[in-house]
Amino acid sequence: MPPFSIAIHGGAGTILPEQMSASLQSAIEHDLEVAVKAGYQVLTQGGLSVDAVVAAVKVLEDSPHFNAGKGSVLTHKEMVEMDACIMNGNSEAGAVACVRHIKNPIALAYDVMQQSQHVLLMGDGAEEFAFQHGHIFTEQDYFFTDRRYEQLMAIKDSNSVALSEANYPDDDKHGTVGAVALDQYGNLAAATSTGGITNKKYGRVGDSPIIGAGTFAENGNVAISAAGVGEFFLRKAVSADIAARMRYLGENVQTACEAVIQGELKEMGGEGGVIAVDCQGEIHFALNSIGMYRASVDKSGQLNVKIYAEKT
Ligand code: ASP
Repeated sequence: MPPFSIAIHGGAGTILPEQMSASLQSAIEHDLEVAVKAGYQVLTQGGLSVDAVVAAVKVLEDSPHFNAGKGSVLTHKEMVEMDACIMNGNSEAGAVACVRHIKNPIALAYDVMQQSQHVLLMGDGAEEFAFQHGHIFTEQDYFFTDRRYEQLMAIKDSNSVALSEANYPDDDKHGTVGAVALDQYGNLAAATSTGGITNKKYGRVGDSPIIGAGTFAENGNVAISAAGVGEFFLRKAVSADIAARMRYLGENVQTACEAVIQGELKEMGGEGGVIAVDCQGEIHFALNSIGMYRASVDKSGQLNVKIYAEKT
């Protein structure tokens, strides 16, 4: 049978082992495992990689433990504004930015891809499209968690912003979510969903919903989803750069990801990482932060769930 595999992430950043309680760690690992298995099940049943990545990301959006859907970080105005993106390796793509009342932004991004002639919809217009296509209005209250409110209050007056995994006094560090997959038919797909960064203002949008920055998929090459400080990933066009290195330089997935994440991105201060799967189903996680919540089922069917950077 042709290879298939899936990898997911739940955000990257300053995730310190000494600040992680055993119960919290097992709750996060549990949700990562449920999510990766939801996506893998789609693949084992002969489904498409686009459907697998949506299935995995929806589980993470519904969990309060991650910065996407329920549990998203708060803006300066104490609102939730979410971004999401999906790309099919056949070049179809859909994305939404600054949506406030959509329970599963990744499902809306999928509908933008399948049912509109556009790639990226934002704000009220994206929600108008959503309600015309069967999405239910979800009150802001649904997305709120006390911890995100405390995180905002800690920096609200400071005129600074922070990754959801920044080193807060509490021990809960969770982030943006994403998934990449290869299906049995050779299709690659990538999906990313986020609440962005704490204390963001002015309709700020990060890398996650931007094709070639936080999300990219190209059949015959690679699928990538990123987590980290979006302003850096945007300026380095991180996922497009990794794909281009593989396409033009012939680098393998590991070499290309490490070159970008440990190279110029790190040098300019861009903290974070990516998950990637190539067209043979090889998975690679690259991070220059202390940790990245991540899980995979590789092409031999092996499940892996990890949080911290590997010791080298
Ligand atoms: N990349 C996301 C953004 O900048 C944040 C994150 O990964 O946690 O919006």
